[in-house]
Amino acid sequence: MLRSVILAASRSSRIERLVETAPLARGVVRRFVPGAAADDALRATGELVSDGLSVSLDLLGEDTETPEQAAATKEAYVELLAALKGADLTPAAEVSVKLSALGQKFDEQLAYDGARAICAAASEAGTTVTLDAEDHTTTDSTLDILTKLRTDFPTTGAVLQAYLRRTEADCRELATAGSRVRLCKGAYKEPESVAYQSALDVDKAFVRCLNILMSGDGYPMLATHDPRLVAIGEDRARWFDRSPDEFEFQFLYGVRPEEQARLAAEGYTVRIYLPYGNQWYAYLMRRLAERPANLGFFLRALRSK
Ligand code: FAD
Repeated sequence: MLRSVILAASRSSRIERLVETAPLARGVVRRFVPGAAADDALRATGELVSDGLSVSLDLLGEDTETPEQAAATKEAYVELLAALKGADLTPAAEVSVKLSALGQKFDEQLAYDGARAICAAASEAGTTVTLDAEDHTTTDSTLDILTKLRTDFPTTGAVLQAYLRRTEADCRELATAGSRVRLCKGAYKEPESVAYQSALDVDKAFVRCLNILMSGDGYPMLATHDPRLVAIGEDRARWFDRSPDEFEFQFLYGVRPEEQARLAAEGYTVRIYLPYGNQWYAYLMRRLAERPANLGFFLRALRSK
């Protein structure tokens, strides 16, 4: 019921305009998405970096339907990377890329070519790329493309979703020297056949995956706002004797900023995932619709410091 209401709202340009113009709603959006233009993202990145945080920028947009849209996304990333370099924000800032925004759903080769061009631009700018994880039907294709990209761009990061039953095996596969792996719970509505459904099972799977990554040889990136999982991450860093440059914590822009600052002050590397672009409305609403529990997640973030 809640999902259908949110989905209906996501298609309504009237509600979009309302959200854009209502002061409180605009405040909500700005808290999670600093703006539509690359300049907004650069400004927010500069502020985060001067606070001692690292950043991963995400140009909003996914499920591209035409080669022209895919090419425009690729170009926007290439220009963004040049601008980040020009503003002296690399290597503190990297980019996160959704392969579906590069055409993965209709032409895998096109998505690979686009991602390769972005990796080359990142390398030129002195930074790197992480491939976001999307719904489970794309996991094999995304990991295949990652393997190919890593031949020439070995620092390209992967994202693994703890809620997928396959992920412990993927963690073992990817916990190798030089391999950057972001571990998150997973944001999509997935069937029971492929994903754990209860919060407890997902949390337990996250800890099993975290143990594999933190005891392995790669570079784990722990992407969660969950206080218990952050504490377990800190504990495992001590247990496996990982220094702050051997793993990192990641948070979404605007979520638990005081915790971000606390971890950075403790000397940890903390990277903020910063979405920007004019597709913020669909992004926000689709996230809510895919997983209505995310509604509470965004509302909590408004209350939290
Ligand atoms: P939740 O299960 O949402 O919350 C657990 C507990 O954490 C809550 O009970 C509460 O105590 C605390 N908490 C959570 N949110 C807040 C808050 N706002 N304020 C105060 N306390 C809070 N998903 C993908 O599928 N693919 C990706 O590529 C991807 N990339 C991501 C990158 C980053 C940097 C992050 C942080 C998340 C990413 N995600 C991605 C989303 C992720 O999969 C989860 O959907 C999302 O992070 C919510 O899970 P959680 O671990 O934060 O904890």
